[in-house]
Amino acid sequence: MAKLIGSIGTSHIPAIGGAIAKSLQQDPYWKPFFDGFPPVRDWLATARPDVVVLFHNDHGLNFFLDKMPTFAVGAAPQYQTADEGWGIPTLPPVPGQQDLSWHVINTLVEQEFDVVTCQEMLVDHAVTLPLKLLWPGDCPVQVVPICINTVQMPLPSARRTYALGRAVGEAIHSWDSDKRVLVIGSGGLSHQLDGERAGHSNKEFDLQFRNSMLSNSEWITQFSGHELVDKTGTQGIELLMGVAMRGALSAGGTSS
Ligand code: FE
Repeated sequence: MAKLIGSIGTSHIPAIGGAIAKSLQQDPYWKPFFDGFPPVRDWLATARPDVVVLFHNDHGLNFFLDKMPTFAVGAAPQYQTADEGWGIPTLPPVPGQQDLSWHVINTLVEQEFDVVTCQEMLVDHAVTLPLKLLWPGDCPVQVVPICINTVQMPLPSARRTYALGRAVGEAIHSWDSDKRVLVIGSGGLSHQLDGERAGHSNKEFDLQFRNSMLSNSEWITQFSGHELVDKTGTQGIELLMGVAMRGALSAGGTSS
């Protein structure tokens, strides 16, 4: 059976892509951020994942307000990137892992998650930037992207998202393969880009959430989608990617 080797969470603001494109990793503004990644790459060199299951939220590139699935699973042979209008480079397609995609989809539907299956899916910076941060050269892993709605009300609750993640973790453990699978949660903590609370952040809540991942991973599941937006901002709801990621680890196996 496949092995779930652990998880990595990261933010994905488009400006990271601009900094990479302009080689600003040692710039004083960016250096503290990029300095966080060499130790992660060292771990990856030992952990040697073959496949990544990547929880992300789309920003209007693939899904728009007229059609917005709560949960969507990619089942494509590869995932095209496209010009998102942020000025970041369009990267080569991301390779898919269709066998695991369909095993995840079948497992989720059996567990009564009515997911959308996507045999074509454009992926934006929420998928490409974590991969670039972890593997600055060519991408050596195949990817199963799982998209969670953080854009259009109604939003999924933390409890439902954690349960989704747990089911995905169970799918990884039961996948008939010798592959090593890493789970990535791609989304920021508290932030708000627009409206009356533009600039909102909530460091205290962010730290509570981060610490709960180690000590009490289901702490976050007490909050509804509305409550999370209230605490973290209209874009801070992206922390649901971390909720799903942690839920996957709760299915058992080795976590890091
Ligand atoms: Fe985002």
